[in-house]
Amino acid sequence: MPTLALRGLTIYPKMMVHFDVGREASIKAIEEAMSSNTSIFLVAQKDIRVEVPDRNHLFDIGTVSTVRQILRLPGKTIRVMVEGEYRARLHDLVQTEPYLVAQVEPAEHGPAYEGKSNSLRAEAAIRQAYELFDRYCELSPKSASAEMLMNIMSSEDPGYIADFIAQNVSMRVLDKQSILDELRPVQRLNKINRLLHREVEILEMEQNIQRRVQENMTQNQKDAFLREQVRVIQEELGEDGDNEITAYRRQIMEAKLPEEVTNKLLKEVTHLEKQPFGSAESSVLRNYLDVCLELPWTKTSKERVSVSAARKILDADHYGLEKVKERVLEFLAVKQLAPDLKGQILCLVGPPGVGKTSIAMSVARALNRKLARISLGGVHDEADIRGHRKTYVGAMPGRIINAIRQAGTKNPLLLLDEIDKLGSDLRGDPAAALLEVLDSEQNSTFRDHFVELPFDLSDVLFVTTANTTSTIPRPLLDRMEVIELSSYTDEEKLQIAKQHLLPKQLKRHGLKKSQVKLTDDAIRELIVSYTRESGVRVLERELGALCRKVAMGIVSEEYKQAHVTGDNLEQFLGPRKFHPEKNGLENQVGLVNGLAWTAVGGTLLEAEANVIPGSGKVELTGNLGNVMKESARAAFTYIRSRAVQLGIEANFYKEKDIHVHFPEGAVPKDGPSAGVTITTAMVSALTGIPVRGDVAMTGEVTLRGRVLPIGGLREKSMAALRNGIHTVIIPKDNEPDLEEIDQTVRSALQFIPVDHVDQVLANALERPPLAQPDQAGGQVPVVSPETGSTHATIPQA
Ligand code: ADP
Repeated sequence: MPTLALRGLTIYPKMMVHFDVGREASIKAIEEAMSSNTSIFLVAQKDIRVEVPDRNHLFDIGTVSTVRQILRLPGKTIRVMVEGEYRARLHDLVQTEPYLVAQVEPAEHGPAYEGKSNSLRAEAAIRQAYELFDRYCELSPKSASAEMLMNIMSSEDPGYIADFIAQNVSMRVLDKQSILDELRPVQRLNKINRLLHREVEILEMEQNIQRRVQENMTQNQKDAFLREQVRVIQEELGEDGDNEITAYRRQIMEAKLPEEVTNKLLKEVTHLEKQPFGSAESSVLRNYLDVCLELPWTKTSKERVSVSAARKILDADHYGLEKVKERVLEFLAVKQLAPDLKGQILCLVGPPGVGKTSIAMSVARALNRKLARISLGGVHDEADIRGHRKTYVGAMPGRIINAIRQAGTKNPLLLLDEIDKLGSDLRGDPAAALLEVLDSEQNSTFRDHFVELPFDLSDVLFVTTANTTSTIPRPLLDRMEVIELSSYTDEEKLQIAKQHLLPKQLKRHGLKKSQVKLTDDAIRELIVSYTRESGVRVLERELGALCRKVAMGIVSEEYKQAHVTGDNLEQFLGPRKFHPEKNGLENQVGLVNGLAWTAVGGTLLEAEANVIPGSGKVELTGNLGNVMKESARAAFTYIRSRAVQLGIEANFYKEKDIHVHFPEGAVPKDGPSAGVTITTAMVSALTGIPVRGDVAMTGEVTLRGRVLPIGGLREKSMAALRNGIHTVIIPKDNEPDLEEIDQTVRSALQFIPVDHVDQVLANALERPPLAQPDQAGGQVPVVSPETGSTHATIPQA
């Protein structure tokens, strides 16, 4: 029988199959079969790579088939349609040229074997086969279809069913051959069931994997789709994402930044490019790039260092302040001679409202530098100065870099306000960070945590302001050149108001000079009765209030021009807020005017003492600090030691309690300079002699009654004058400080320098205490009443 060696294909009886044939020998065999109208033996080749097979290359069992159709394809191949007839065993190849001829023997009884073995086992195998094939069709709809299922459902022949399934299910060649080799129908079906079962399991697993892949795919596809949509929307809106990247690149290249900065920023742009649009990371990067590009890496304003121009500007902006102006001009003179000298830092110290900020502004104007202001009050986090790393949510650069950004040049005047109010806590010490900022050795490469690049601060002119130097961290203070500004006298305030504040307020309120006539008297009244301050801030505010009132009057056509005098001031500003010289000047027992110096200037500090029956306790109240309490105890001991001379019962401390109180108990007070005040109050309370109300005093007291010098005399004396005091008792060692005090203040007050408490008592008490008759032998005045001057005689105990 002509024979065809099949490669990778198995044909079963009763199956119609078509396949392509290419080998010459195979084509000849088919042609022979067709022409002689005989069957052809189809047998699979063991190894498909063999071109010219011999007996050993072929399996034993094959299928005798009929060629139904031949179709010649372009080239040498033909497509044949064959139908299997029955299984046959290959005995021998009798011819190999020009085509194979084999001697075969049928391996089944005839082409159709009866389904005799339809036992229960066969039935079970058939049902299982249906089920498996059904499942298989479901899982692999491409290779098998419902039609095929119908085909086997209609059959009850297990052998045929097995053959049918084997023909239509994709399996390995060896497995297919094993089905062909099995001649017993039921066993064959069982075999195919086993193979099918495996196949179904594999398919199920495949499908599982497929589904999971699909799920991932769909998520990714969804993202990609949405992103694409966003891109299109952006394009429509004219905010093309790609353009943004190129715009950043262009901006960076055009900005002519230092090389390190350019490289870093370009790197960040590349990073941004990789981020999906709208991600948190991308907005962080965008913010970073915006901030960095906004920084004036190389931009400077042309500085003008001219002492004469600066003098003009300072004089035009400020009344008085001669010494301060002189110091500022000296500072600028050095700058003019040595322009490269860097790292000079001015520190303007003084009470609020005395013009520190406005001096700094004038300096900036004089130097033609931009001005940026940083308020350091309450800053207690290092990150405030240096910024947060950009990875933090909502991170921003620190205040220094921010101020530079606002100024827009790298050589602005940076005004660091309230450097004395700098705090520090667990989150790091801002003073340390500030030290680096202010240090000319280090600040050329100042690194902000956010910017992450060194920024050159060496061209910045730093000016700081403070109310007091005492709370400025020492290392900071050492780097600064301190210029002190002091309180204004009423006369100075008058001039400032007339020449600067009023014109400023008029302009701000849209009033013409002719519309407001303010007499000097009115301004004086305003200063005395509506303000109580060292500077002129409240005064300026009150003038503003006055302008508003006048503006209202003019707009409502009450009058065309306002005449404000000392007498009608209340019509404009309401009732007076302060009534000077009312209670302060009355002579009272146990009530003494002390003078204190605070960060906001000098103030009058009253001390009250009262004596009550008791057991010698000293009670101190009024929110006093430790130093002040100690000076009260020292005063008490001194009085005990001098009781006889002071006319106090020697054992008063056994039967009486003394209570000293400083009113305005909510305000903390401390310092040794209230020593004389406390002593005087106690003596007055113990002796019952009133204290002169027009006298104020300041000075530290030792256990032996010596009076030691104090600080802040200038501020204190101004406070005394403001409060209607006529005489001020001061420590003798402070006498040189009187030189510093403004002439108007000095001539309005009488200063009595003292070096012992007895002199204080002689001048402050209404009458001198009389020594106790018993112990001191007769009523001898301790101090002669006529004295009341510096040179009181001091009796020694
Ligand atoms: P500080 O910074 O010391 O608290 P400011 O500089 O803010 O005080 O001054 C408060 C107001 O008083 C400003 O409007 C300022 O122009 C004005 N001022 C202070 N001193 C003078 C002065 N000597 N001449 C003119 N105006 C002054």
